[in-house]
Amino acid sequence: MPEERRATERDSDEVLAEARQHGIHCLPIPTPFAVGRVNCYLIEGDPLTLIDAGPRSDRSLAELESRIEGTGHSLDEIDLVVVTHQHIDHIGLVDTVAKRSGAEVAALRIAAVRLAEFGKNSDAEDELAVSLMLRHGISADIANTLRSLSTTYRDYGDAVMVTRPLEDGGMLELGDRRLRVLHRPGHSPSDTVFWDEDRKLAFGGDHLLSHISSNPLISRPLDGSPGRTRSLVNYNRSMALTREMPIELMLSGHGDPITDHVELIDRRMATQLRRLEKIERIIAARPRTAHAIAEEIWGNVAVTQAFLTLSEVIGHTDILRDQNRVREREEDGLLIFEAVG
Ligand SMILES: [Zn+2]
Repeated sequence: MPEERRATERDSDEVLAEARQHGIHCLPIPTPFAVGRVNCYLIEGDPLTLIDAGPRSDRSLAELESRIEGTGHSLDEIDLVVVTHQHIDHIGLVDTVAKRSGAEVAALRIAAVRLAEFGKNSDAEDELAVSLMLRHGISADIANTLRSLSTTYRDYGDAVMVTRPLEDGGMLELGDRRLRVLHRPGHSPSDTVFWDEDRKLAFGGDHLLSHISSNPLISRPLDGSPGRTRSLVNYNRSMALTREMPIELMLSGHGDPITDHVELIDRRMATQLRRLEKIERIIAARPRTAHAIAEEIWGNVAVTQAFLTLSEVIGHTDILRDQNRVREREEDGLLIFEAVG
C-alpha cells in the first residue's frame, strides 16, 4: 500500500520530475538487448551535456533526437557527451552525436584506447570469452554460437574518440555544475560514477540498477595486460566505496532512479553472500567446472546467458580462492574447482 511505502522509496516519476527541475532529463532509448531501454541523460546548461547515447541504430538515433527535441533542445546543440562505461548499449551513438554536433567526448583516460579501438578490442574480448568458456566447461558449439551472436550485435557499437580524458577522483566542470569522476569497476572495467555533491545526485551508469543486479561481466583488463578482470572482487570493492557516499539520488543506465542506494547495496551483498555459500557447498559435494556449477544453480540456462552465468560463478570462485576455501586445478584442459581441506 502506498501509505506504507517508506519515504526513501519515492515514486520514480516524482523523482525524475524533480531532476528536471535541476535541468536533468532522462531519455530512455530503445536497445535490442534483453535489458530493455537504456537511460541517457540530458543536462541543460553550458555545456549542453549528454550522458551516454544509446546503441547505434536508426531507431535509437531517431528516438534520441525526438526525445532531445522534447526537452526544447536539439541533438546538433550538444556540446559534450559523457561516457559512463564501455558497453555498446551506452556508447554506440556517441560518435554519431559527436560528429553531428561537434561535441567533445569525455570518458576515463584509462578507457580511451579501449573505446577508440572498438573493433579490435571487440575481437579480443570475444577471444577471451571463448577461451574462458572452453576452459570452464562450456561446449565449443555454445561458445561459437555466442561468438557469432556477439559479432552480430557489434553493429550496435562504434569507436569512440575521447577528446576530454578524465582522471579518477578528478572534477568534470559543467558550467556551475561540478561532477566528481569516480572509477567504479565491476560491471565493466570502465564503470564510472559522476557525483554532483552539491545536489547529492549521482549518474551511475550500470554500477547499480534498481530492478536487476548488475552482472559482474568478466572482460579484458583496461590496461591491455593479459588475462581477465576479477570482476566480482572489483565490483564488491566499488560497491563498498559507493555505499559510504551521501547519495540522495542515483540516476542509472537502466530502470528507475535509485533513492536508497545503501539498502540496495546491502541487498545485493546479501544475495551474493548466499550465492557464495551455495557455490562452496556445490563444490564441496563434488569438484567440478564453473559451467557445471552454473548448471547446478540455474539449470539448463539459455545459450545467450551462458557467459553471464559463467562470469557470475568465476567471480564467486575468485572470492572463495582468495579466502582459501576453494582451489583450482587443471584436468584434461578444463579448470576444476575443489574444496580446500
Ligand atoms: Zn547497460
